[in-house]
Amino acid sequence: MKLVLASGNRGKLAELGELLAGSGIELVPQGALGIADPVEDGQTFVENALIKARNASRLSGLPALADDSGLIVDALGGAPGLISAHYAGVHGDAAGNIARLLRELEGVPAARRTARFYCCLVLLRHAGDPQPLIAEGEWPGLILEAPRGTGGFGYDPVFFDPATGLGAGEMPPERKNPISHRGRALAALKARLGDWMARG
Ligand code: IMP
Repeated sequence: MKLVLASGNRGKLAELGELLAGSGIELVPQGALGIADPVEDGQTFVENALIKARNASRLSGLPALADDSGLIVDALGGAPGLISAHYAGVHGDAAGNIARLLRELEGVPAARRTARFYCCLVLLRHAGDPQPLIAEGEWPGLILEAPRGTGGFGYDPVFFDPATGLGAGEMPPERKNPISHRGRALAALKARLGDWMARG
């Protein structure tokens, strides 16, 4: 099955590509088809994922997969949340986003630095599909006081996974992918894919 991926984010593309390797699903990034991101004016991750998937499917004529994800920090009332990609003002400025996050959390003790990554995946058969496949995944952790590691993307250098004792930025992809919010969402999506396709 050929799917257009409704994202230009190279980190997401690499992770989803690895997670889908051998599944029979071929991901074509929307950028390769000249498709740009639409305005994401939803109020939730699921709304924004639907907006992105619908846009990519409408413009490509292909089924579309969208990922809307972000970091939710308890001590900041859920921020950066929906604006994770541009928390510091400029879209995709990972260093700026991390700097702002660490500033906002200055003086907050380790026990209150709880956070989670969240990912919502939406799969549409076509732009008018009334029954999309929607899957979610979460990854609980803590925000570090300083970056660790150089792997991953986005907020990975400041996200600590207590279950492994490693920072997300210290994990090679084969370590991060099975436990990450994206990996978990994709596992949930894959588990329901056969049924969903049979209904299409
Ligand atoms: P979106 O393109 O609006 O879904 O933006 C998601 C943003 O959340 C990314 O630009 C990153 O800043 C952050 N994010 C999502 N997933 C991850 C991850 O796996 N690691 C680090 N940051 C992530």
